[in-house]
Amino acid sequence: MHAFRSNPRWNGLRALVTGGAGFIGSHLADELLARGYHVIVLDDLSTGRLDNVAHVLQHPGFRLIRDSVSNSVTIDQLVTSCDVVFHLAAAVGVDLVIRDPVRVFETNIVGSHVLLAATARHHKKTLIASTSEVYGKSEKIPYHEEDDRVLGPTSNTRWSYAISKAVDEFLALAYHQQVGLPVVIFRLFNTIGPRQTGRYGMVVPRFVQQALRGEPLTVYGDGWQSRCFCDVDDVVRAIVGLAECDDAVGNVFNVGSTAEVTILELARKVLSLVDDRPSSLIDRIKLVPYDQAYAPGFEDTRRRVPDISRIKATIGWQPRICLDDTLHRVFAYYRQDRESRPAIVDPPTSR
Ligand code: UDP
Repeated sequence: MHAFRSNPRWNGLRALVTGGAGFIGSHLADELLARGYHVIVLDDLSTGRLDNVAHVLQHPGFRLIRDSVSNSVTIDQLVTSCDVVFHLAAAVGVDLVIRDPVRVFETNIVGSHVLLAATARHHKKTLIASTSEVYGKSEKIPYHEEDDRVLGPTSNTRWSYAISKAVDEFLALAYHQQVGLPVVIFRLFNTIGPRQTGRYGMVVPRFVQQALRGEPLTVYGDGWQSRCFCDVDDVVRAIVGLAECDDAVGNVFNVGSTAEVTILELARKVLSLVDDRPSSLIDRIKLVPYDQAYAPGFEDTRRRVPDISRIKATIGWQPRICLDDTLHRVFAYYRQDRESRPAIVDPPTSR
């Protein structure tokens, strides 16, 4: 039995969360505060939102610093004053990767280098967020941490994200090997929950908002591609569990659900939650070819399923929250005060 909740060794420690005003970072900050950590969030609020941390701004254990992770002076100061660093600041989302590849490299590689150089200088435990994208289009399912990665050519922008995060992983492991920096890398698979925006392409918030507006759900390709969606509460429980486990140091871990669903099934589930009109699904689902949805030559990952045996063996983690429950939570989030939520569904012509 692995007891995460009350590890007195970690209570009262100071955690730096880069990207802590983003979707996953803000949930992580909540969880750390609940466990008695002091939390400093560093976020440039480019994709992160003040709204995500508004409820903790007055918390005595919380501080928000608005700056870039590439600012080495700020980073050095913050790292000095913290005991553990969670590095989640990154350019995220397939849409953003295709529209602004320069930013992907600058944020993901320069920012991570600045951060790791500082944590190595001050010898601070560093948790690095990576992504299931690093597996690329490998057809060996499920993906195990030691599997080969299969990526497309450099002429296809889509793969730049996977490359940039793989560089972060190499760099973190290099610091671990060369100077003994205690690093842990976690590869996040499709994570969903309240506060996630569809602005950068993520399918669940897009479908939920489309359904709430009575618009057809835009299913890309033939809809038979599949993903495993994991609730953000499960994900932050995994991240903190890894941070508090000495045996995790120097390792890479998959963090995700193993319950596979096709995007067409997901669309049907979302529609069934919004209303039960017996109208034909054909009217309520719009198939959009990939080259219209993204860019000509776009390659989607057909299936993506994690092997989570390593994290299970190390900290006893596995997901607890099923897809239906998370979808209910996402609906509740977008139903509550819909006017104040960002408009996340782009008109089809601007995609
Ligand atoms: N997708 C879709 N409609 C949308 C947005 C995404 O059908 O409006 C598809 C996308 O092509 C992919 C899957 O949903 O096959 C998951 O997309 P997401 O961007 O959420 O995550 P990914 O797994 O691509 O990183």
